[in-house]
Amino acid sequence: MRNIDQIYIDGAFVTPHGREQAELINPATEAVIGHVTLGDREDTLRAIAAAKRAWPAYARTTKAERIALLQRLHAAVLARADDINAATTEEYGGPVSRASWVARYAAEAFLLAAKTLEQYPLTRQIGSAQVVMEPVGVAGLITPWNSNAGFICNKLATALAAGCTVVIKPSEMSAIQTQVVTEALHAAGLPPGLFNIVNGRGDVVGAELSSHPDIAKISFTGSTAVGKAIQRAGADTLKRVTLELGGKSPTVVLDDADFATAIPLAVTAGFQNSGQACLAGTRILVPEHRLDEAIALARAAVEAAKVGDPRDAATEIGPMVSRKQWERVQGYIRKGTEEGARLIAGGEGRPAGLAAGFYVRPTLFAGVRNDMVIAREEIFGPVLCLITYRDEEDAIAIANDTVYGLQAVVLSGSDEHALAVGSRLQAGRVLINGLHHEPLAPFGGFKQSGIGREFGTFGLEAYLEPKSVIRAA
Ligand code: NAD
Repeated sequence: MRNIDQIYIDGAFVTPHGREQAELINPATEAVIGHVTLGDREDTLRAIAAAKRAWPAYARTTKAERIALLQRLHAAVLARADDINAATTEEYGGPVSRASWVARYAAEAFLLAAKTLEQYPLTRQIGSAQVVMEPVGVAGLITPWNSNAGFICNKLATALAAGCTVVIKPSEMSAIQTQVVTEALHAAGLPPGLFNIVNGRGDVVGAELSSHPDIAKISFTGSTAVGKAIQRAGADTLKRVTLELGGKSPTVVLDDADFATAIPLAVTAGFQNSGQACLAGTRILVPEHRLDEAIALARAAVEAAKVGDPRDAATEIGPMVSRKQWERVQGYIRKGTEEGARLIAGGEGRPAGLAAGFYVRPTLFAGVRNDMVIAREEIFGPVLCLITYRDEEDAIAIANDTVYGLQAVVLSGSDEHALAVGSRLQAGRVLINGLHHEPLAPFGGFKQSGIGREFGTFGLEAYLEPKSVIRAA
């Protein structure tokens, strides 16, 4: 059993004041595998006080000192890579085929932040003013369960690069990963108070961070509903907020695309992280005159997606993170049928041969109108909608007809053609003819997918305040 009974404040593991416990459940087996003791408001206040005490001295450190510290954190997290990856599989069912890069990605965040800081001008001259970029203060970092180690490390790395100290409130559903990451960060031997980590409920620890006057900035990744609550809670103290929220991303398959490769790629885009990804391409847009061909190819790809034990290297889709999430996805599949969408593959219930575990049948609907609930709301499971368009104007209108705007994929026989369509899509990231990643490019959402950007200089500036110093002439 994994019993996680400590939180991390002021450079030490301490017993929380809070006594409430939450069960940890392996979603692949439904077995209880331990518990986590949840910190409360008092624990949060202690953590904020520790970060506040540490901040003035840390804010004065040089670039070189911060870069050295980030390099130490990189090495420390990398040293625990296997444990971090194993926790991903154990506590949220992340298939090992994906989990194997979770820790590397998490560790690399420190090197990327160091590189960004190294190249970033913290002072510059604008006319007679010297503009100095100063750290904003103590930051509250709130992360979701679905790539917890990566989010903790990226947000922490960027905040520390900027000269901020932090309190982290990770998802209570990924406490094992948090514990391993915290042990790794502790092993790096940083001065106390630079980072503090409090397990706890969102409406207790997260809410306190979001409203506390000593927190200057919140960086949040999670659902749009909670992001809005955080922005409201931070309004009284005018907190700087970065919000990385949900999505309902379109994959636009253009008429000149090679459907035999484009449609399976579109399915892959939708099934990332077992469909539990903010950027999952869950709306696949195809020309109406090629619908039958698209259905046949998409059905084959969906039915070929291997669902099962996340520890099996061949598994592509693991279980949903929790019973609640399983039930939510079932509800959406039911809703799709009730709304009149045509079920092509999958459907309600469990996949054959998987009696235990929160497994969902990979599901494909055709005949989906963009105003149906299944096309508008984030499902966060392996459920895809095939939507037809008449012409490219119609495709662009449908792709943009959503409150979200996190990512869009455009697939075409020509990059120029895809780029022309992509330039008209309202999304923070547009992928042309593939599913590539550029680690220092800004990532974040248009519209209700978020506010602000993470990664690279855009991410760093979110933790900095420009100060103009102007001398008398
Ligand atoms: P969630 O919004 O339920 O929870 C995220 C975090 O917020 C958790 O730590 C939770 O405890 C905390 N929280 C809950 N209520 C709070 C409150 N009132 N005040 C402060 N904090 C509170 O999200 P989740 O289920 O953990 O993650 C899935 C969601 O995250 C999806 O909507 C997904 O799209 C989104 N997501 C976005 C990105 C991105 O980069 N845009 C990346 C990953 C996940």
